[in-house]
Amino acid sequence: MKEKILEDFRRARIYLLRNHPFFSYLAMYLKPKVISEEESKKLGIDVIAVAKDGTLALNEKFCEYSVKEQAGMLAHEIMHLVFNHPQRFFEMLRKKREGSHYIYNLAGDVVVDNVVLRSLPLPESEVVRLNLEKNTATVQIGGMKIVINNIDKKTTEEIYEEIMKDMPKDMLKKVKVPTEFLFGKDEDDADSDRKEEGTGTEISSISGKGKKELNWKDLAVEAYTQAKLRGNVPAGLERLVEGLVKPKINWKTVLRRYFSQLIPYDYTYSKPSKKSEAVGVYIPAIKKEGMELAVAIDTSGSISEEDLRDFVSEMAGIIQQCNATVWAIICDCEVYSVNKVKNISELKNIKIKGGGGTSHIPVFEELKKNPKLKNVKVLVALTDGYTEVPKKPPQGLTTFWVISRDGINEKMPFGVTVFM
Ligand SMILES: [Zn+2]
Repeated sequence: MKEKILEDFRRARIYLLRNHPFFSYLAMYLKPKVISEEESKKLGIDVIAVAKDGTLALNEKFCEYSVKEQAGMLAHEIMHLVFNHPQRFFEMLRKKREGSHYIYNLAGDVVVDNVVLRSLPLPESEVVRLNLEKNTATVQIGGMKIVINNIDKKTTEEIYEEIMKDMPKDMLKKVKVPTEFLFGKDEDDADSDRKEEGTGTEISSISGKGKKELNWKDLAVEAYTQAKLRGNVPAGLERLVEGLVKPKINWKTVLRRYFSQLIPYDYTYSKPSKKSEAVGVYIPAIKKEGMELAVAIDTSGSISEEDLRDFVSEMAGIIQQCNATVWAIICDCEVYSVNKVKNISELKNIKIKGGGGTSHIPVFEELKKNPKLKNVKVLVALTDGYTEVPKKPPQGLTTFWVISRDGINEKMPFGVTVFM
């Protein structure tokens, strides 16, 4: 049975891989763990639950669903982590000194399903039902029916308050607590006597001890960036992730992940890679092809020596990793030189003049008309962002804008913008 459950899990993950790059990217961080019926009861887990470190508890009921529903369930659990629900519940408890984990979980489900259901089906729930067209959710508890309007504009905490407001106090006490997502051990709350039964530290026993917690917000931003490059971002997610992106994303991580995973590849589903056998997780073998990329350095912008050094050494790492051919384009408001680069470190010595006008239009024109550059699929441009760009995004080219520390604060009109 255990094998069958894990097989279903892998199958659902492959389904995501083929159809939903955003969820699939995040699903790679899930570590499945089969639990028995007895353990499920003890932990208050119905079918599936997740912990902050990515441990995903599953029992045999998981196999009762279709692959699409299973994929939807993985996406559902992932989104609890992206929304940071476990942590936020603790924060709410800390502030209010009381709370119902069960109700918080239902409120979280409303927010989560509002994203997931736009891409994937979920098993019907008797407790939480969404009507995406009307933008409403119905929460059914103990014979009571609470309707929540305008769900796309409400946070989990706001929905929680709405449900609590309508619940008679005595009913609240009776509400059993099936914990769907799990809490890792949290310093301040480990000994909190306000915590409800069933949400306590015994649940964290399911996640690995001493494993590092993942930053799901950062991962979601990366996942989003990748999905966007493949033109496949789940509806309803844009706004959420835009909100997450604002605080500043790690440009190095974004670039590195992009190059290590998305550059011309071909998933070969037939044989799991050696590595995945060792960890017991199916990771499709990735076939990399040689790639060509262009690096454009804008010499007129406000780019410090440190920016340039950081950029060049980061690119050097990336190039080594993906075995790419690199073209360096030196520009300000015109293109000065286009050279195949043998050793990218040489670029550290380029003189940044600063102060002049900048336009990237000539760079894009060069890429279009210069026959030497016809295989270039990716452009990474170091600039302060105060520059002219073509009105339309160039076809067949992915652009990364790396904005220097003194550069603009907004995103470029197309491509992916990362800030140093
Ligand atoms: Zn849930």
